[in-house]
Amino acid sequence: MINKFGISAHLKNGNGHHNGTISEFAIRPNGIVDYQHPDKDSAKQEVERAVSTILANVGEDPTRDGLAGTPGRVARMYDELLAGYQVDPVKLVNNALFDVEYGEMVLVRDIEYFSMCEHHMLPFYGRAHVAYIASGKVIGLSKIPRLVDMFARRLQVQERMTHQIGDIIQEILQPAGVAVAVEGQHMCSMMRGVKKEHPVMFTTAFYGEFKEDREMRKEFLSLIR
Ligand SMILES: [Zn+2]
Repeated sequence: MINKFGISAHLKNGNGHHNGTISEFAIRPNGIVDYQHPDKDSAKQEVERAVSTILANVGEDPTRDGLAGTPGRVARMYDELLAGYQVDPVKLVNNALFDVEYGEMVLVRDIEYFSMCEHHMLPFYGRAHVAYIASGKVIGLSKIPRLVDMFARRLQVQERMTHQIGDIIQEILQPAGVAVAVEGQHMCSMMRGVKKEHPVMFTTAFYGEFKEDREMRKEFLSLIR
């Protein structure tokens, strides 16, 4: 099927799922994967079971008072922290595109995000900055933080998240240029080892005029400093 943004999506059977359940993935050309678990209740129970297993195997007693409700809480928490898999970007953006003559830079700065690294399932968090040069269309301002959130609430690597944000802006708005910069502090590097310094990781993705024109990039980078 082709939606109104020209994003084609087709359903494909996913694999790698336990219990013989077949998950459905709608895979889009830019690598965005929307996932709907066929049975949310059994999925939650599986997560709870897995958390109990972890507790029992790190030296805890999963049945003691303080931990009795923990597997359930963690399962509900993952539901929230990883809710981005369930978000349909097409619905999210619906009715928020506006025609304009405007050809200047639109910048949304300091978008706070919280994500989880896919290597350790520990949080990373920080701010994202998104700019585009409108070319006939602009998007409602509140939608950009929601798009960032949609990608942040998945298991991620910061570099990929940065490009996914850029790709979707590019795909939806077909602007003259897109720039995305993401700052992130990663708990997996902060909590492990003995280093007391906590570097901020900085990733960027540039498209169109931002890629071609060094001055445009400089302007963007100076605006987010
Ligand atoms: Zn990590």
